[in-house]
Amino acid sequence: MSLATDQRTFDVLVVDDTHDNLRLLSKVLTKQGYGVRPAPNARLALAAAIADPPDLILLDINMPEMNGFEVCEALKKNPLTQDIPIIFVSALGETFNKVKAFDVGGVDYVTKPFQIEEVLARVATHLELRGLQKILERQNETLSDEVKERKRAQANLEVLNAELDTRVKQRTRELQLEVEERRNAELNLLHLAFHDSLTDLPNRQSFLQTIEDFLGFRDFAVLVLDLDGFKVFNDSLGPDLGDELLKVVAQRFLACKPDNVILARLGGDEFAFLLPDADEAAATDFSLKLLDCLKEPLKLEASELYLNASIGICIGEGNYTVPSHVLRDADTAMYKAKLTGKGNYQLFDISMQESAQERLQLESDLRQALELDLADQQLELYFQPIVSLRETKVVAFEALLRWSHPEKGMISPAKFIPIAEETGLIQRLGWWVLRSACRQINLWQKELSEDICVNVNLSTLQLKQPQFLEQFRALLVEHHIQPHNLKVEVTESAILDDANLLNEISNLGIAICIDDFGVGYSSLSRLQEFPIHTIKIDRSFVMKLEQSQQGAAMAAMIIAMAKGLKCEVVAEGIETQKQLERLQLLSCQLGQGYLFSKPVNAQAAQLLYKKVA
Ligand code: C2E
Ligand code: MG
Ligand code: MG
Repeated sequence: MSLATDQRTFDVLVVDDTHDNLRLLSKVLTKQGYGVRPAPNARLALAAAIADPPDLILLDINMPEMNGFEVCEALKKNPLTQDIPIIFVSALGETFNKVKAFDVGGVDYVTKPFQIEEVLARVATHLELRGLQKILERQNETLSDEVKERKRAQANLEVLNAELDTRVKQRTRELQLEVEERRNAELNLLHLAFHDSLTDLPNRQSFLQTIEDFLGFRDFAVLVLDLDGFKVFNDSLGPDLGDELLKVVAQRFLACKPDNVILARLGGDEFAFLLPDADEAAATDFSLKLLDCLKEPLKLEASELYLNASIGICIGEGNYTVPSHVLRDADTAMYKAKLTGKGNYQLFDISMQESAQERLQLESDLRQALELDLADQQLELYFQPIVSLRETKVVAFEALLRWSHPEKGMISPAKFIPIAEETGLIQRLGWWVLRSACRQINLWQKELSEDICVNVNLSTLQLKQPQFLEQFRALLVEHHIQPHNLKVEVTESAILDDANLLNEISNLGIAICIDDFGVGYSSLSRLQEFPIHTIKIDRSFVMKLEQSQQGAAMAAMIIAMAKGLKCEVVAEGIETQKQLERLQLLSCQLGQGYLFSKPVNAQAAQLLYKKVA
């Protein structure tokens, strides 16, 4: 819009002390459409200008009190009014200093008497200029606002950029960490895949790999070591302490092996060693060293434990192509070591393989028999008479377990009891035997109306069951067994390992019998510390009775010692009349053996009772 047509919006302050001039100017300007405010003196003019700054001031110069220049100077000093264009008005003939008019800030001047057109033209021009100036100012303001806005935006942008930068850095770091974590996780997985989590030793997988690296390149020996009776420790200590025990054992092995020997844990209580470039001699030397290093007690919490181990050795001299076959054969040799008495080592030879397979088959068949409730069909108690040697009269029986295998026929307990012990099956088997013996005692008591005594063999592993005593007591109550109707037979090692429990059993009134006496480790002097009722002289001494003086002397000594301890003596395995006579001469009270009767089934046994054998 042109400013000339926008006159109405303009506000003009007319200052003149001459009333006529004031009126004339006001009239003309009003007529032009300007908003006019008349001010008759300088004081009012200043007040009006400050109160509401006009768009233009027509300012008379000659005024009393304060002339136009002074008013102009005052207005120019005030920021509110300093930009208002001021046109001076002066009468012709008055002293008028045009230079001063511009110096003090005036924009123009008109002279009186007025040429109205000139006044209007000048007013219009300056208002237009003022208008343009205002627009410019506004534009400047907008511009500076924009500049400010842009600066702010710039600053914001910088902040955002900085934030972005830190976020990018942070994310990069996070990503790096993630990558690192993932790499660590992968390494961990790899480590886990080839290490045993409990001991951190290489595991079976890793060990097989090591064997593979040797096969065909270098001779070596592999030893598989199994801790004897560990299952029992584990059951009685609880799995946590059992784990601790395995760690302690692993440490012990690490400490005693040379650097070049590789140690692994195959699982459970089975460890393996690989000896590079080792022959039979080196492998057996190392086995002895391992068994030796277990002789020192193992410290577990406050207690000290003794563990033994059985070791199987397999020598690799280019004779293997499959790593797992090496382990299989070392394992087979290890089982052989266990069967031959534990705490020793065996070298693998090819004949062992068949027996190992047979053993595995027996284990699985026995397990099946027990789990599928086939026990009553396949298992049976036989009874061998115990005879008073003076009258050769049957006074008691020993219960002996028989397994009639559906395909293989009768299997000797000497064969399957060690398997049952090694696999833990002995627990269930043992309870089956005890329960069947109790049942039989009851039956006989009814049928014979006699107080009959039956000896039952207990494995030391049965004694180590945590709840053994409670369950045993419950069984006696359930079958109404009087304590003198039952005796338990344990081997010598039970005296050392389970002395407390033997005391408890004895406190129930049950007599304890030491089986196979003389071949174990018990020291004779310690026997008197335990509640032993009967000692059974091992068959090997009875056999020697006829063979040598020395054998007879040993038997005589055991009989004398047993008497000294006020124990009953039973001689096992009497096969000949001569043996019987010798034992009678030595005043041995009781005996068992094929001479009198082989173990027979319950029916046959019943017929023998109280008979002269
Ligand atoms: P053991 O307790 O020493 O039993 C005596 C073994 O010697 C029996 O072998 C018996 O048949 C045998 N025997 C008896 N008299 C003679 C003889 O005059 N000559 C010869 N050569 N042998 C004779 P069996 O029944 O084969 O049992 C072997 C071992 O198996 C037993 O030795 C015992 O340790 C174990 N056993 C048997 N039944 C059980 C059972 O129910 N529980 C446990 N834990 N072990 C059992
Ligand atoms: Mg026995
Ligand atoms: Mg025996």
